[in-house]
Amino acid sequence: MKLHFNVASCVRAMSKFSECTKCVDACPESIQITDNLPSFSKSTGVETAACLGACPTEAFSLSDFSVTEFFFTFIESKVRLISSKINVPCISVLSVEHLISLALACDKPITIDLNGYKEGSYLLEQIQTRIEEANFVLSSFCDKELSTNLDGSSRERVEKEDSPEKENSDVSSRRDFLSQASVKGVVKHKKTFDDAVEAEDLQVFKIDAFVIARMKDKNIPDKRKILFTTLKRADAPDIFEVLPEEEISFVSQKFIDESCTNCQICYRICPTGALSSNGKFSLINFDAMLCLKCHLCHDACEPDSIHLQSGFEVKEFFEATQRTLATFNIKRCNECGNNFTYTGGEQACPRCQTEEEEAMFLHDNAKLMKGDES
Ligand code: SF4
Ligand code: SF4
Ligand code: SF4
Repeated sequence: MKLHFNVASCVRAMSKFSECTKCVDACPESIQITDNLPSFSKSTGVETAACLGACPTEAFSLSDFSVTEFFFTFIESKVRLISSKINVPCISVLSVEHLISLALACDKPITIDLNGYKEGSYLLEQIQTRIEEANFVLSSFCDKELSTNLDGSSRERVEKEDSPEKENSDVSSRRDFLSQASVKGVVKHKKTFDDAVEAEDLQVFKIDAFVIARMKDKNIPDKRKILFTTLKRADAPDIFEVLPEEEISFVSQKFIDESCTNCQICYRICPTGALSSNGKFSLINFDAMLCLKCHLCHDACEPDSIHLQSGFEVKEFFEATQRTLATFNIKRCNECGNNFTYTGGEQACPRCQTEEEEAMFLHDNAKLMKGDES
């Protein structure tokens, strides 16, 4: 089972200002940044699966295993155990959004089998952090919860609960599928990146015309579509909580301060269209439920005008709204006739104003030089 990377989905490909390192942070031994893009060994496989669950834009995928397909297969089956021994190559392929969606979509409680993961390991810590976040978000609007197990009893429980024939065939077909894909060593100690790969084995990705064409499309990752769908079926709570921004890794609410110059960068590069404008570029709209908290808009905003709201309103999960974060007075330039963001004074666009200032400067210099000569 090999790791694949879709350059066009990576926010680093969308802007050189992106500082996203979520995949590197998830798999520091296997993924590194080369020429501003993630790179990894050609032989990199499921042992680095944590990057799948960490990447906000789903830029990574595995050959022979689709997390989206797993979601649907799992909720249709009676198995309520998620285990690297039965149905996933590694629990870390699941993002917080997947975990919340799975809990919401299933009637019976889900147990996540953590047996086999080395206690205190970085991989186990990451998985536990994601489960904790999912449970924290779930607890804000329902009583569903994911449980974990480190002693093997969950396996027993699922075998007792499920009807033997169907479950055995489900589990064995998945086992067959996964054994074909040689899912081994998921929780083994990893070698360091330098030890594990020869330098020439490194896959370095480039941004070509094909990638640029695909980047122009605004895409909502499957995991977000799944979350939308499962939230639609959930009952809204009577009172909506506000969760601390720092406790939520996958979605955000924002505000824009008055330093914004309407340079158009943030809403042009936002990968999902969470930030958008109208035909005249006279406002900036924001759909929190489309935001992946990829931080690209913050990284690319030169005056640092866009900020995270300190709390995330749970109401957004149930009554998603589009908010206008900024409005601009758009006028036609008296010099060139192009529209621009008017902030007062002369009705000339910044480009014409700069040209005029340069012309004045040259004119003054010429006069001075003439004076010197005489
Ligand atoms: S968008 Fe995904 S692939 Fe790109 S740097 Fe961030 S985590 Fe890595
Ligand atoms: S928020 Fe920043 S990036 Fe977006 S339009 Fe304003 S100045 Fe440009
Ligand atoms: S609005 Fe959200 S999804 Fe769009 S660039 Fe900003 S952080 Fe990323």
